[in-house]
Amino acid sequence: MRILIIGGGIAGPSLVTQLKKHNVKCDVTLVEQAPEFRNIGYGIALWGNGRRTLKEAGIDDHIIDKEGYEVPWEAFETTRRKILKSFVFNNFKSLGGPIFIPRALLHKTIVDRLNPAIIRHNIKPVAIRNFPETKIAAVEFSDGSKGEYDLVVGADGVNSWTREHVFGSGLKKYYSRSLWIMWIDKKFTLSKGAVAIAGGGKLALLLPLKDKCQLSLYASRTPGIQGDVATRKRDLKDLFYEFGDAIRHMIMSVPSGQDILFNDAAYISMKHWYKNRVVLIGDAQHAMSPMMGMGASLAIEDSCVLAQEIANEENVDEALKKFEHRRNKRLNIYKKQAHIIEDIIMADGLMARARELFMPLMPNAISMNPLKRLLEEEI
Ligand SMILES: Cc1cc2nc3c(=O)[nH]c(=O)nc-3n(C[C@H](O)[C@H](O)[C@H](O)COP(=O)(O)OP(=O)(O)OC[C@H]3O[C@@H](n4cnc5c(N)ncnc54)[C@H](O)[C@@H]3O)c2cc1C
Repeated sequence: MRILIIGGGIAGPSLVTQLKKHNVKCDVTLVEQAPEFRNIGYGIALWGNGRRTLKEAGIDDHIIDKEGYEVPWEAFETTRRKILKSFVFNNFKSLGGPIFIPRALLHKTIVDRLNPAIIRHNIKPVAIRNFPETKIAAVEFSDGSKGEYDLVVGADGVNSWTREHVFGSGLKKYYSRSLWIMWIDKKFTLSKGAVAIAGGGKLALLLPLKDKCQLSLYASRTPGIQGDVATRKRDLKDLFYEFGDAIRHMIMSVPSGQDILFNDAAYISMKHWYKNRVVLIGDAQHAMSPMMGMGASLAIEDSCVLAQEIANEENVDEALKKFEHRRNKRLNIYKKQAHIIEDIIMADGLMARARELFMPLMPNAISMNPLKRLLEEEI
C-alpha cells in the first residue's frame, strides 16, 4: 500500500509511527513544506489520552515525562482578581492530568523516531486527482514530481491545503478573536498552577512550564488584522489595560527580539473525514477553540485510530468508513462543548455578569464532565 502524508507537524509523524506499530505493510512518504524541522512554537498541552497513546506506540516518553510540567490546577478569575472557580486536575490523575511542554520538544520527540529517508522537505502538493473509480489518488508536487497513492493523508494543519483542495472552501470558520502567545520572565511564575483572568470579552492566561512561563492573550477582534509588529507590545498593553499593572508589566517585559505568536482563532466545521482516497487528520479536520488545549492529544489519537483501522481492514474504503465513524462518535459532542466553553470564557457584558454569579455555584463535577468523559472513554 502506498501512503502519502501531507504535513510533518504532530499528526503526520505520529501516523508514521502508528502504522509501524500496527504492522501495516506500506510505503510511506511524508511531505513537509518547511525546509527543515525548526525549534519553534510555544507551550502545548498534552492530556492523558495523548500521553497514553504516545506511550503505547513506544514513542519515548522519557523526554515528555522529564520536560513536561504537570499543571496541578487552574484558577479562573475576574479582572479584579476574584477567583470564580478552581479546577483541580490532580482529581483525575488516574485518567491523566495535562502536562505542558514546549511544542518544539514534543515535535522533536515524535519526529526523531522517523526514518529520514521517507521525509521530503520543502515540498507541497499542487494538485490531487482523487476519483472513486480508480481507487488511487494521483498527486503533483511543487518540484514538478508526481506520484500515485492508495491513500493520501492530509495532516497539514488548520490552514490545510488538502482540505481546501479536496473538500472545498468555507470549512474554516473564525471566532472573531485573536490570540497572542509569548514567553515571559520566569520571575512571573508566581504559582504552581495556571491562572486565567477573564473580563470584557478578553482573557489572559498565565501558564507555568517546567522552566518557563507563558502568557497567552485572547481578545474579541475582527480577523485578518495583523497589527503592527513594531508596536505590538504597546498595543497589547493598551488592549489589556483593565487587567491591571501585573499583566501590563509582563507584556512590556517581553524582550524586543521575541516573536510574539499571533493567530486569528479558527475552527473547522465539517462532518466528513475522507473523500475517496484522501483522508484528513489532526487540525486539518477538527481544529477547535484554542481554549480547549486538546489539539495535539486529538491529533495523536487520530493517527492511532487510522492506523488501527487500516491494519484491521484490508479494504481501504471500509477502513476509512470505520475510521470516520469512530472519530465522529468520539468528537462530535466534544466539538459542540468546545463552542460553549469558548463562549463562557469570552463572555462580555450581561453574560459576563451572569458568569460571575453562577460559575462559583456550579459543581466541579458538572463543569469538568466533558473533559472527564473524553479522558475516560476508549478512543
Ligand atoms: C510551526 C508550528 C508551531 C506551533 N506552535 C504551537 C504552540 O506553540 N502551541 C500550540 O498549542 N500549538 C502550536 N501549533 C499547533 C499545534 O501543533 C496543532 O494545533 C496540533 O498539535 C495538531 O497538529 P497537526 O499536526 O494537526 O497540525 P500542525 O502541528 O499545525 O502541523 C501541520 C504541518 O503541516 C505542514 N503543512 C501545511 N501545509 C502544508 C502543505 N501544503 N504541504 C506540506 N506541508 C504542509 C506545516 O508546515 C506543519 O508542519 C503549532 C503548529 C506549527 C505548524
